[in-house]
Amino acid sequence: RDLEQQKGLQSIIDDIYRELTPRLGEGRVADYIPQLARVDARHFGMAVVTTGGELYRAGDAEVPFSIQSISKVFTLTLALGKHGENIWSRVGREPSGSAFNSIVQLEHEGGKPRNPFINAGAIRISDLILAGHTPKELIGEIVRFVRYLADDENIVIDHEVARSEAATGYRNIALANFMRSFGCLDHPVEHVLGVYFHHCALAMTCSQLARSGLFLAAGGTNPLTGHSVVSRQRARRINALMLTCGHYDGSGDFAYRVGLPGKSGVGGGIMAVAPGKASIAVWSPGLNDYGNSLLGSLALEMLAARTGWSVFGP
Ligand code: GLU
Repeated sequence: RDLEQQKGLQSIIDDIYRELTPRLGEGRVADYIPQLARVDARHFGMAVVTTGGELYRAGDAEVPFSIQSISKVFTLTLALGKHGENIWSRVGREPSGSAFNSIVQLEHEGGKPRNPFINAGAIRISDLILAGHTPKELIGEIVRFVRYLADDENIVIDHEVARSEAATGYRNIALANFMRSFGCLDHPVEHVLGVYFHHCALAMTCSQLARSGLFLAAGGTNPLTGHSVVSRQRARRINALMLTCGHYDGSGDFAYRVGLPGKSGVGGGIMAVAPGKASIAVWSPGLNDYGNSLLGSLALEMLAARTGWSVFGP
């Protein structure tokens, strides 16, 4: 059945693209910075890389976009590599049930963010991996790590996006200062946010993103390059966090409809993992009410239904 599915994979994603084409442009494009607001809402890209190394693409799979919060998977992986399980004394691993940039929960829980994927948690992760580095060095290390994961030296940060985030990121600046007021940040707020805004501003294509998530689908080792990134146990655990926390307060809905670990970004991208099968990236800039890609979620729902890849059963 698996082989048949692989042969049929290109036609499955072609069908999904064709069926969604009349709806391109639906949803609301993020408009908190001009660089995101001016992205054409009608883009749609999809890339699937199987653990056997085949790449399947549809639509704008080779057009770079702002990966935003998807980068939080990469910084979490780095933080686990540097500090191991010790990170869990600084950041929780429970779904938040509140918006991605909520400040309320921080006050109730003594400045400790709920999980590494909400903004406060990712800012705390940036702080943890800053230990022993200047912000500039660390940003360079993050870019090199993502290039290594995707096996692609062309991945870069969109510095205009990073600058714009810094200029208008009042909410993130507030989150960082709030954590600092609880003694929950080890480095100066400007340094931590500099790192956070830059990793959010990574620009990647669906193909690059799907390849960079492949280690999570394949027990911690990228089967295309042979690079061993994390242990099997760690890959499983990162997948668990993506499933429970990867879509903010829409994580339950995504698990219910799609049934795959995934991480969304406000740029309209989603990286999803079908353990043992494939890594998938979709991009469609229009967002739903939770701030997750509307058609991207739908495309993944269709893919999971047609391949039987849901982690909850075929
Ligand atoms: N840079 C965005 C922010 O901090 C990331 C949010 C997201 O992608 O969901 O507001």
